[in-house]
Parts: sequence; structure tokens; C-alpha cells
Amino acid sequence: MTPPAATGDTWAAALLDRLTTDRGREDRLTHLELLPSRPAQPADWPAWVPGPVRAAYAGRGVERPWRHQVVVADAAWSGEHVVVSTGTASGKSLAFQVPALSAVLAARGARGQRGAGVLYLAPTKALAHDQWAGLRSLDLDVRISTHDGDSTREERDWTRDHAEYVLTNPDMLHRSLLPAHEHWSRFLATLRFVVVDEAHHYRGVFGAHVSQVLRRLRRICARYGAHPTFVLASATMSEPEVTAARLTGLPVRAVTEDASPRGRVALALWEPPFSSYLGENGAPVRRPAGSEAADLLTDLVIHDVRTLAFVRSRRGVEQVARTTADLLEEVDPALAGRVAAYRGGYLPEERRELEEQLRRGDLVGLAATNALELGIDISGLDAVLMVGFPGTRAALWQQLGRAGRGAGDALGVLVARDDPLDTYLVHHPEALIGRPVEASVFDPDNPYVLGPHLCAAAQELPLTEDDLSMFGPTSRDVVDQLTAAGLLRRRPRGWFWTDRRPAADLADIRSTGGPAVQLLEAVTGRVVGTVDGGRAHSTAHPGAVYLHRGETWLVRELDLDDRVALLERGDPGYSTSARELTSIDVVGERAHADWGGCRLVLGDVEVTHRVVSYLKRRHPGGEVVGEEPLDLPERTLRTVAVWWTVPDHVLDEAGLGGDVVPGAAHAAEHCSIGLLPLVATCDRWDIGGVSTARHPDTGVLTVFVYDGHPGGAGFAERGFRAAAAWLRATRDTIEDCECPEGCPSCVQSPKCGNQNNPLDKAGAVALLDALLRHAPVAGHDDGPARA
Ligand SMILES: [Zn+2]
Ligand SMILES: [Zn+2]
Repeated sequence: MTPPAATGDTWAAALLDRLTTDRGREDRLTHLELLPSRPAQPADWPAWVPGPVRAAYAGRGVERPWRHQVVVADAAWSGEHVVVSTGTASGKSLAFQVPALSAVLAARGARGQRGAGVLYLAPTKALAHDQWAGLRSLDLDVRISTHDGDSTREERDWTRDHAEYVLTNPDMLHRSLLPAHEHWSRFLATLRFVVVDEAHHYRGVFGAHVSQVLRRLRRICARYGAHPTFVLASATMSEPEVTAARLTGLPVRAVTEDASPRGRVALALWEPPFSSYLGENGAPVRRPAGSEAADLLTDLVIHDVRTLAFVRSRRGVEQVARTTADLLEEVDPALAGRVAAYRGGYLPEERRELEEQLRRGDLVGLAATNALELGIDISGLDAVLMVGFPGTRAALWQQLGRAGRGAGDALGVLVARDDPLDTYLVHHPEALIGRPVEASVFDPDNPYVLGPHLCAAAQELPLTEDDLSMFGPTSRDVVDQLTAAGLLRRRPRGWFWTDRRPAADLADIRSTGGPAVQLLEAVTGRVVGTVDGGRAHSTAHPGAVYLHRGETWLVRELDLDDRVALLERGDPGYSTSARELTSIDVVGERAHADWGGCRLVLGDVEVTHRVVSYLKRRHPGGEVVGEEPLDLPERTLRTVAVWWTVPDHVLDEAGLGGDVVPGAAHAAEHCSIGLLPLVATCDRWDIGGVSTARHPDTGVLTVFVYDGHPGGAGFAERGFRAAAAWLRATRDTIEDCECPEGCPSCVQSPKCGNQNNPLDKAGAVALLDALLRHAPVAGHDDGPARA
């Protein structure tokens, strides 16, 4: 069927009818929301934009920009730091390109000497290359160059000596450009704009690292007399000015009013039914979201509805595409070729070809990971399937933003996975719709992040007392610790790095903790990849099935002394997930709140982990087919946690007897970990938990949820600030779940070290009720923490 124009209100509804009523799937649709259309608001070009720049955009069909683009460009041009936070395909690139290109041309010397400098930062190489290609196609007289790990020596030299508009990534800034700033001094001295694109990617520990890299950049620029204006572009987020200010250390103005047009979108929330087999401890399990999505994608392709299915893992992408092709084959062999998988890592030509096939309609269905958001340009789709909640409301709106041809209507379907967060969301549309999206969470003051960057900064240029304020309130303490440890030396002119090694090596900005473990092919010794030290025990243990770039490997051996794992190719037909035992010690409290006799605390903890076994789950259903013990050493992690305590008399009043308490606390812990992403931009693998009926440090029932990164990443802090809303959602999820005694949708966790035992579903509800009785009434504040 062909989607009509914006008139009438029935296209998406009629389509949805075909997906539900016609197929007997009515009960799977838990909610349908019709999101209104938005009219376009064009504006005039600002007077300062030179003719050639206007003409270049006119050549691309932009006669007049949208109003938000002009607001951003004007702010940047006048030297105001600005962040544009609007939807997908709202033209954020134009908003920063126009002032940047104009500045280069305006400052160009009479004899063609280098004009103003622009430094563009993207989270990935591929995105910087796309941005480069887009700029080049404008055909302006501006010297544009990418600078990354693939650049040749000659290219790097040319960029350094001649380029005006340099496109790179934070990694290159950290490892190459800043440590060698003397060579780049002429470029840095001209720097007028720093563009931070896709700024919402900088969250968690990565966000903290990038915020420190940007502070180092500002300090070095100042040394050469440059004070560039920062222009940030981000997907929609809550209070983008707060996040942008935290990222850059500067006051930043936010532009959030999107003036680009869009059609109406019907957003359907979809819950797969229970499947026929049982899970762990006899729990009912739901049909995998991927299988459900393949059914829907099949129907959509049959109806000729151009659809993009977002799947969270590469394996999942392959599976959805393959299953859909098989189902289509049964209907009509000619249809099987109209669906494909997009796995990321494609060459630009390959991506362009896929885009072209979709535009032409040769391809009707495409399954993709989020990698697509960084590199493929397809708008004008009729429908978007989201296979599992993409982690944040911001990401959900971004993916949904792919649907809709200009002002035409579109359909979006969120298919829930069998976990507490997705289950909560498809039954609580108010948690998704009509409320601000999350703020990006990260903590630039994390000493584990700050320390290495202070060393790198000291190597770039001795650190002075005056510099320290730029690096945050804790930097003086951290500098003193680094000096005491012999990494920095204090002299009259400041703190110096005295080691021979490059200080930048101390910080791996993409790592989430610990020195990396190399993955080697056992037969050849070839390096296949690396895995973060913090994750090696759980993902590269002997027997682990390891997915790398779409290929399946089996880990034969993990040598922790040499930090290598030996792998061989092969797909045993199952995936593995490690289980670990965890204990926790309280180091100190940072803040607390009293809820009646109960307490809610934010503080520092030391977590001790041990991976004890792993589970094998058969494909594609995920059925557990075995568990193997492992013998791995303990690891400790110093981090930040949020915890709550319930004293004995409150348990007594709630009628919670000693036999119920351990299972109740354990169940509440699991579900609360699953739901923390509701208030913090993390996923459940970023955090961990411990529950105990009586903890030695508190003397009472205590449930901890901690950041899985050394020094914390800000997630536990968000949990503490939004505790009432977070724990109420936890309670509701457990109570509302249809299962009798606990299942993966409520209290079972795939990473439990105790075989999901004991778990007491009813006890958990009673326990949370007792805890929440004196909790503050939750407002709708899911915005960033206000300490
Ligand atoms: Zn359940
Ligand atoms: Zn557990």
C-alpha cells in the first residue's frame, strides 16, 4: 500500500490494523499515540553570510534556512557558545557550517593566506568523513581536511600547515594534536570555532574524558591567544545547556525549538506474548523481540511500506534480516531480496549504494544497529521498528525521527524486550511521551578520569595554580595526589610531568576501566581486537562466545598475567553470559535522605567481584542449555553507589518475616537495576547491585546499586537524586507483571551470580511499599541532577 499525503488520519491507523486485527495480535498493542505534525518555519539568511555560502546551499536546494538554524548561526557568529539540540534531520550541520565557512572566507588573507580556523569533532571517524564529503560537495574555496588514524604522513603535514577546516575526533585531539601542539600552533592560533557534533554520545566515562580533553584544548588555545567559540550539536536532550556547559566548562546557550517540518507519527507500543517454553526456575518467558520484529517487518515489506528496524546488537540485526527474508521467501521468493542487514563498518560507497536502493524502493526493509545513526543518510521512510527500547528517550525520538517523508505520516513501533525497563515502558506510555528527554549523565570530576588528563595537560604545558580552576573543583586535590605519587613534580613555574612516557597514554578515553586485554587468534597469533580490562572476566573467559565485527569466536584461554585471550573461529549455536558474585564495603557517605526510619544514601564503596560461571543460551530463542563453572580471581572496584536501608522495625510493621526478606531485597535490587536507565542515561550493564538482609556496615537490610566504572560515572548519583520516581517505577513494574513468581520482565536478571535465587516477587512489592511510605512525592522531574 502507498502512504498518502498528510490529509486524512487513517494511513498509519489502517496499517496498524493490518498488523494487529488481521493477524489476531490485538493484545500485543499496549498503546497507540498519535504525535501531531509540525509546520516549517523558514527564516532569512543573516546579512553577514557571504554570497558564495548562500549560493552553495541554494545549489543544494536550501533557499531559506529554518529559523533555529539562523538563531544558532547568529549566536555563534557573535561569539556566543551555543548548543543546538533538535530532532533527526533538522539540519543541525547547516547551523554550524554556515558561521564556520563564513568565518574562514571572511578572514582569508588578500594573498590567500590561511583564514580563520575551524576544528570539527565527531565521535567517530566515519562521521567526520561524511561531514567532510558534505562540505566538499558545497564546492567552496575552503581548505578542508580530515585528520585521523587513517591519514598519511603527507596528509597530516598538509592539514597542519594549510587546512582551515579540520575534521577529527576527540581521540586524535587527545593523543596527537594536543601533545604535539607546538607543531599545530599556527592552526590553533587562528582557531575561531570548535564544533562538537553528536554531543549526546559523550556520556558516562567517555563523556567525562571528552570534557577533560576539551578543557586541555581550551588551555592550549589560550596559550596561542585563541579563545574559540564552541558550537555543539546534539540529539534532543533535557537541559542541553547544562550538559554542554559541563562538557566544555563554559556557559552555553541552548537552542531547542525545532523549526523544520515533520508529519504526524503514530507511535505503537508493542509487547510480545509469552512463549511456549519456560526459562530459569520455571519462569514464563516472552517471545524474543527480534522474532516478533521479524514478523512485523515481513508484513510491512509485503505491504510495500519502507521500514527501518533498529536492533541493538549486530547478531540481532543479522537474525532479524535473515528471519524476515526466510518468511518473505515463503510468501513470494521475489520478495526475499527486498530486505537487508546494515551492520556498520561499511565503506562510504557501500553505504551510498544501500541508501540508493532504499530510495529507489529495490529495498523495502532494512535491519540496522544504531551504527546507522553515524553514517547513513536515509530519511523518508514510512515506518521505523525499534527492537527493544534504545536505552534513552532521546535515542527513541532520534530513531523515530527517521520515519516520515517530509510532511507525510509515519508509523513507529517499539517492540519490548523481555526485561523490566521495556516492560515498564510499554505499559507506562506517560514515561515516554510528553515529558522531557533525559540529560546526558557524566562526571568530569571523577578522579580516575581527571588524574590522567592533568598529567597530559602538565606534559603539554606546565600546570599553574590558575589553570586548575579550569579542570574543576577537585583538581587541586588530584594534583596533590599525583605529586605525592611522583607522577608530577612541583617547581616554581608550576607542576611538570617528568616521566619519559607520553602522559596521554595514561588515559584510554574509550575504555571503561582497567588495562585492555588483547584478543588473539590462537592459530595465527593475529590480533582480533581488544576488550576493556573491566569486562575481560565476564566477556573473554574460557568458553565465552565472543562476537566481533559480526564474526563469532570461541575463547579458548584467558591469560590475565599477559593480558591476552586466545580465540578460535566457530559458532557453537549458543551465546554465553557470565555470572558473578559480588560483595560491597561502604567507604564513606556523600549525601543522604531520611525516609521515615529508612535511609537513602549516596556514597563511596569498594566492590569485590568474582566471575563464577557462565550460562549457555541457545539461539534464537535464548533458552538456557547449560551452565559451566569458572575459576577466576577476584577483582575490586572503587566506585560510587546509591543504597537504601530498611530497619528491622519497619520490616516487622510491613509483616516481612526473616524467611521472605532476602528474596524480597534481591528481587527489588534486580528490578531497580533494570529500571535505573529510566532516570539515568546508562544501560543495565553499566551498573551492578548487591542486596543483603543485614549488611555489616549498616547493620540492617541494605540494597546497593553502584556504577560499574572506577570512580563512578554519575549514574548512581542520578539514582539518588531521582530515587522516589525510580523506586516507585520499580515497585510498579514488579506488581504489574503478569507472571506468578518472577520472570525476566520483572525480577530475574540475566547477570545474577546466584541463579536468580532466592527471589520473592510479592515480598519485593511489600518491601518497596514500606521503603516508599515516607518518600517524597515524585514530580515529573527526570531532568539533570540539581545538587
Ligand atoms: Zn514477571
Ligand atoms: Zn542476583
